[in-house]
Amino acid sequence: HRFTDYQLSDEIIQALDQLNYDTPTDVQSKVIPLIQQKKDLIVRSQTGSGKTAAYGIPISEFVDWQENKPQAIVLTPTRELAVQVKEDFINIGRYKRIKAAAIVGKQPFYKQKNELKQKTHVVVGTPGRMLDHIEKGTISLEEVKYVVIDEADEMLNMGFIEQVEAIIEEMPTSRVTMLFSATLPERVKDLSVQYMNTPTDVEI
Ligand code: AMP
Repeated sequence: HRFTDYQLSDEIIQALDQLNYDTPTDVQSKVIPLIQQKKDLIVRSQTGSGKTAAYGIPISEFVDWQENKPQAIVLTPTRELAVQVKEDFINIGRYKRIKAAAIVGKQPFYKQKNELKQKTHVVVGTPGRMLDHIEKGTISLEEVKYVVIDEADEMLNMGFIEQVEAIIEEMPTSRVTMLFSATLPERVKDLSVQYMNTPTDVEI
């Protein structure tokens, strides 16, 4: 497989080139076409497999630059991962001038509130602070078409699963939902039954 197999725009191909992503990783070659077909997904994959770009590439391709409101929401268990994922979106979306924000705890709320008033295509965040913005009405969710739950088993381990559920409840129902997890405990499977539309299982 090559990235040029996936009907990606020149802007995205050029960015992947600059990142020295020559060939898609396993998870990327399986997941990119499924996301392009708008399938809900449960993906069993480890950190280091290239999972971020597996959803980052098709979501970046999909983003409509003209639309100012968030079109994709990514939930991560840690602040560090949120910042890393945000950086990945900025890199992959460089030539589309994609705007991504990291909305995490231990950072000033008002700064995030102001950032969310600007053009923001992709919001990456940790559950607690994300829910805070949703409850205070400082994040707009009506244009969200893609929701990613990254490291879902870690969300469970860290006690975030109820918050993740509360966040998904607020998302538009006409959306694509993707769950990435190294392992699939019952509680994580429950989440997929509750909030996903006949998801496709992908095992790497
Ligand atoms: P991740 O599993 O998303 O944390 O990615 C692991 C590392 O692989 C990151 O440093 C990425 O920049 C890198 N990476 C992702 N996709 C590719 C690719 N297709 N070719 C080379 N490196 C990649």
